[in-house]
Amino acid sequence: MNYRTSLSLIISAAIAFFCAASALGSSLFEDAGAMFRSKNFGSAAVKYLEVARTEPANAEAAYYAAYASYYAGRKADAIQIFWYVAKKCSSSKHAVSSRELLKKIDSDYAKHSLDPRFASLPGAPSAAVTVAATHVTAPTSPIEDKKKLIDELVQLTPRRSNRPDVTPAFVAEIKDGLNQFSLPILRFLKKHNCHIIVCPCVIEADFRMQGYSPGGYWEGATMEDVPALFDFKNIVIGQYLPDTAGGYRQNDGGLGTIRHEIGHAIDRFSGNLSQKDDFKHARVWDYPYRAEQRAKLAYFLGGGRGDAEAFAELCAFKFGGRTDKRRTETCNLLQSLSARSYPVVEKVLEKLETESP
Ligand SMILES: [Zn+2]
Repeated sequence: MNYRTSLSLIISAAIAFFCAASALGSSLFEDAGAMFRSKNFGSAAVKYLEVARTEPANAEAAYYAAYASYYAGRKADAIQIFWYVAKKCSSSKHAVSSRELLKKIDSDYAKHSLDPRFASLPGAPSAAVTVAATHVTAPTSPIEDKKKLIDELVQLTPRRSNRPDVTPAFVAEIKDGLNQFSLPILRFLKKHNCHIIVCPCVIEADFRMQGYSPGGYWEGATMEDVPALFDFKNIVIGQYLPDTAGGYRQNDGGLGTIRHEIGHAIDRFSGNLSQKDDFKHARVWDYPYRAEQRAKLAYFLGGGRGDAEAFAELCAFKFGGRTDKRRTETCNLLQSLSARSYPVVEKVLEKLETESP
């Protein structure tokens, strides 16, 4: 049994626990539980953290904030919070479980066990950070590292047409989305000089795309209708999409879109894994045998581009899934029919989590 499997078992128990305990908790705690149960781990983590900050004695809230962070792909945050539970709520039963889990997921267990910076919730100043103000050479915490890295990864393309400008709220949403990825994944993007370019519409990153029809889209669609893309170098995300009345609507794919495009980047920068025998052979075995499934998953079929899309989408699933209803459905369906190819993707991502500097 690998640790992922054992975590899955524990998380099932956690979900059962919430069904019983939520009636007793605060409404914020209940909200967090509901998000957790619906596998919206990123939002659940934020809510649980809020509870843990306002109720420092609530070991349970912090413990599940760590779990939700882990499942949202924010391993560094999860480790930080599990340490908080282990050290600051040491008399709670959750402290014991936290240490057990940390032994499995924290490769620097012994070091962090003695490090006073690993005793506070993410975003809160720890004792050591306060001390660090007088010591210029003190190392930065993983949380600070991540924020700096995200600021470096995100680039803005100024408006070059009559579309509206990108709003600060949209940029904040993208940054918040990136914050849900683990440090090794973000460092992997940085290592390959891959930026997340935010612009009013994807074609503004390169007007040569204008008028071209994107593969796998509906008849008459143009590149303007594409919410985000990976151009083999950078990830480009547009805030506005054309609406049917000749105006613009917001790109609401958000975090799910970022998860998919980062999947493309990982595929490419790892040597086009989606076009290698391992993945392609697995995909042949996973070919949907029912016509209605094939119709729903057409975007991911046909080899070549279809395999690259499937690879990216399975990465998106592993990172926590899609965030809009239509794509959540196809993403989940694809994963459920990828008995052979999903493990190939899982292996790639797990290796990346442990090997990246
Ligand atoms: Zn794609």
